Order: sequence, then C-alpha cells, then structure tokens
Amino acid sequence: MQRIKKIAIIGLGLIGSSIAHAVRRANLAADIAGHDASADVRARAGVLGFCDHIHAEAAAAVQDADLVILCTPVGAYKTIAQQVAPHLKPGAILSDVGSVKSAVIRDVGPFVPKGVHFIPAHPIAGTEFSGPEAGFASLFDGRWTILTPVRGSDPAAVERLKSFWAALGSQLDVMNAGHHDLVLAITSHLPHLIAYNIVGTAHDLEKVTEGEVIKYSASGFRDFTRLAASDPTMWRDVFLNNRDAVLEVLGRFNEDLSQLQRAVRNGDGQSLFDWFTRTRAIRRAIVDTGQDVPSFGRLPFQVYVPAKKKRKGAKKNMKKAGPAKKKPAARIRKAARKTGKRRVR
Ligand code: NAP
Repeated sequence: MQRIKKIAIIGLGLIGSSIAHAVRRANLAADIAGHDASADVRARAGVLGFCDHIHAEAAAAVQDADLVILCTPVGAYKTIAQQVAPHLKPGAILSDVGSVKSAVIRDVGPFVPKGVHFIPAHPIAGTEFSGPEAGFASLFDGRWTILTPVRGSDPAAVERLKSFWAALGSQLDVMNAGHHDLVLAITSHLPHLIAYNIVGTAHDLEKVTEGEVIKYSASGFRDFTRLAASDPTMWRDVFLNNRDAVLEVLGRFNEDLSQLQRAVRNGDGQSLFDWFTRTRAIRRAIVDTGQDVPSFGRLPFQVYVPAKKKRKGAKKNMKKAGPAKKKPAARIRKAARKTGKRRVR
C-alpha cells in the first residue's frame, strides 16, 4: 500500500502500541503520532520509542494526520471524538479498534466533520496483558480485522483502510455493526462473562476448599482464569455498550445450560455424548483454520501449521520450532517484569 504521511494513535496500550510496532515493521508511515490520557503511559511509551511524537493532547496528535485510530476503552470514545473532531484533516480516515461497533457509531458518528471518512474497525487479536509494554508487531499476523463501514462510507477510503490492515498482517472482513456485535457477543463477550462468573464463584468456594481451587486449577479452571484476568475497564465498557446482543446470547446460553442440567440429572448419557461430540468438532475446525494450536499453546516446542485440505494431515503438520523464549507471550512477560508495570488482564 501507499506510504501514509502521518498516522495518529489515541490510546497507547496493548492495541495502540501493537499498531505502532506493526506500522514500523511494514514501514507504512513517515510519522507515527501518539497520545494517551495518562502521563505515566506517555512517559513509558516514550522510552519504548514506538511513536515518533507523543502528545499530551489528542487534538495535537491528530493535526494533519491522514489516519487516526482510537485505541482507548470504548467508554472514552465520545469525549475523544468531541475533542479531536475540529482538528481532523479533510480527507482523513477516522477509525478505531473497539470491541463493540454499534455503540461506537452512536457515540462517534455525530461528531465526524464533513469530508472525514469514519470507518469503524475491530482487530480480533489480543493477549491477557495491557499497557504500552504489552504491544508487539506480530499481534495481528493472520488474525481477522472486521470493518463496519457506516452508511455512505466512501468505498475508496474503505479500500485504503483494508490495505492498511492487510499490511499489518491481518485478514479482512466487512460486515454491518449490528451483525458484528452479535457475532462477538457469542465468540468473545459471553465467554468472558462466563469466565468472570465461574472464577468469582470458585473464589467464594475457595474459602470452603482452602486453596484446592488454585492447586488443582489445571483440570479446567485455569483456562477460565486467563479470560477472567482481562482488563476490568475495557470489559466493563464492552458489556455496557453491547447490552442487547449479550443479553440475547445469554438467554440462549441459559436455555442450553438447562438442557445440559436436565441430561445430567436424568443420567441421559447419549445426549451428553452427542453434545460433547458436536463441540469437539468445533474445536477441530478452529485449529484447522489456523486460529489456534491443538495444545492451546502449552507445548512450547510445537508450532502448528494448519492443514490445507484434510484434517487427516493435521498430525503431520506438527513440527519442531525454536525454544519457548521466541514466543511473543514470553517476550511480553519478560518486558513486563522489567518495567514492573504489568497490568494483568
Ligand atoms: P489498554 O492496554 O488498557 O490501553 C488503553 C489505553 O488507553 C490505556 O493506556 C489508557 O490509559 C488509555 N486511555 C484511557 N482513556 C483514555 C482517554 N480518554 N484518552 C486517551 N487515552 C486513554 O487497552 P487495549 O487492550 O489496548 O484496548 C484498547 C481498545 O482495543 C479497547 O477499545 C478494546 O475494546 C479494543 N480491543 C482490545 C483487545 C484486547 O484483547 N485487549 C482486542 C481487540 C480490541 P489508562 O490505562 O491510564 O486508563
């Protein structure tokens, strides 16, 4: 894609800093301007050096920018949109990375000046860490980014934003905001809600079991704790801003849970077996499309190359890779230990 003169990133945490690193890696912009509301984050981002200029005010960061990306929790978008709107360059693209999309269009849309292209986006990529130290250039490699253009969006601007995310390593999809919110409610928001719930329940129970919940966590509980460690501010904003879709899928979830409860109570082994067989196939499909590794990333010496045609070939595709220290997650943990600024999410 054509090199951008100036990109402005508002919010220099995990996603904002990862975008900056990926822009640098692909040499996509002559000038990367950054802004964060927190002076501490701005200072840490300055030391890490992934921006060319860091501004104390969002309005200054977006000045003359060809592409502006909001990377803060979505609850802050409305105020930021109000602040930056008068300073946006005509012809610029204003985008974001928020995990919900209808609410973003509701909050930001009214402030977008004529001549500025507002194209919301959501990279489906993340880790359980937050803050500027958590970012890394390959976060978006092979992951999906969903664009949800608003009515009347300029097709050429949408194509430019698509090229930008493709250059960051992403695969692209375009859909309307309502559909995005429903899809993400089931694939991301509900799993997080369940994780927050089960970990909270287990914590209460731990008073009874005296530490056994932690001790035996590898039996399944551990997988929920990673999700339940996610950033409270970000997830509070997600649930406040995707209420309808989350309540819709939560209703269905409760119905299905009652069905499973009945099968357990009635000793209906066939129903349980059929259910679990169906869900196992879903896991296989996720692995085969390259969106995870069979070991959930727990075997550091294995890298999974997704089977191109048949699942049969999947085993053959396991091959030896370098040592665990090359994995991004390990690198992030190391950086976080160094700074002592890690905020586990
Ligand atoms: P993060 O690591 O916590 O970074 C967000 C940064 O924004 C923080 O440094 C925060 O500062 C700053 N901030 C908060 N309010 C601000 C404001 N009004 N003006 C300027 N800066 C402000 O969060 P993240 O994980 O990068 O998430 C950012 C966005 O990406 C969210 O909208 C989220 O929905 C979306 N997203 C996240 C993931 C994920 O897995 N993490 C994946 C896809 C999309 P303080 O910490 O001082 O408040």
